[in-house]
Amino acid sequence: MAESFRAILVSRDENKKQSVDITQLTDADLMDGDVTIAVDATTVNYKDGLAITGKSPVVRHWPMVPGVDLAGTVIECDSGAFKPGDKVLLNGWGVGEVHWGAFAGKARLNSDWLIPLPDGLTAQQAMGIGTAGYTAMLSVMALERHGLNSKSGPVVVTGANGGVGSVAVSILAKLGWEVIASTGRTSEAEFLKGLGASEIIDRAELSEPGRPLGKERWIAGVDSVGSHTLANLLAQTSYGGAIAACGLAQGFDLPATVMPFILRGVSLLGIDSVNAPKQLRLEAWKRITTDLDLEKLEALTTTIGFDDIIPTAHDIIDGKIRGRVIVDMAG
Ligand code: NDP
Repeated sequence: MAESFRAILVSRDENKKQSVDITQLTDADLMDGDVTIAVDATTVNYKDGLAITGKSPVVRHWPMVPGVDLAGTVIECDSGAFKPGDKVLLNGWGVGEVHWGAFAGKARLNSDWLIPLPDGLTAQQAMGIGTAGYTAMLSVMALERHGLNSKSGPVVVTGANGGVGSVAVSILAKLGWEVIASTGRTSEAEFLKGLGASEIIDRAELSEPGRPLGKERWIAGVDSVGSHTLANLLAQTSYGGAIAACGLAQGFDLPATVMPFILRGVSLLGIDSVNAPKQLRLEAWKRITTDLDLEKLEALTTTIGFDDIIPTAHDIIDGKIRGRVIVDMAG
């Protein structure tokens, strides 16, 4: 009999009512692909929370094994790109949305989607970073491409206690930026200062409708929140600055005016991690290994086992998760 492995399966009935089950699968159940991987570690991102709770239409193929990030070991690879035993990393590419993903003992994928596990990182550390951390790095790189650096002025990070936010705070602080961290959990100020934030502001200051232009408070920003928060960030950005927009934790709307763009030359930089080209991914992960302090990473990660994935997915949507979650598949 074929060896089976655990998996989370998100299904829909004929009335489109969603259910989530832990089930057993075999290799024969997996979707097509040219590489089969044993999943060593994964993580729970906000998007995985959306998939499991069904809060937003992240899943577009039914049934679905969710999980957008994995670190694993190659079992077999038909393309020749990898050999058995190679350690690999996957972020995005629609995995966990349209192609069965990481919340299973094994995954069968397209080898083009994979990059080698970066030197110096374990599978667990790579998942501590995950799509959230790699998106934080993409955001920092976008600000740098715009010509901004730690000498330019302060940077604001929203959703600072979340996955993207906490990694962004750590990276920016290590790069020497003065980091203003915006959070709804001001009780976590010491945690954020430990990651390197210089100033903590209450997200309530930014989350309500604001004026088209405000006092210039920062030259750059990493925003994982969207909506009024992003509009207020733009309105309070200094002349020539830029905000990297990567998330929608408050909302996907952007109730802003053009005033910051046309009167202060402010730029809005869009960040997508899912379909980012391979070269950019390789660069982002290389930068992560030099620009993220692994001790800080340890401070912002919590490790859980496979059975904790579903409750954690609900917690991340409820805003109860601080920093990043590592799922150790051996756990
Ligand atoms: P987390 O849930 O870990 O963090 C989100 C944080 O946003 C929360 O911790 C909270 O921070 C803040 N927040 C939550 N709700 C609200 C609200 N109503 N108003 C204001 N702030 C709020 O998620 P991630 O960090 O993993 O992801 C953040 C966002 O980035 C998500 O929207 C996700 O979909 C998006 N994303 C986009 C990617 C891309 O490719 N563009 C890749 C990865 C993520 P605090 O408690 O500090 O206030």
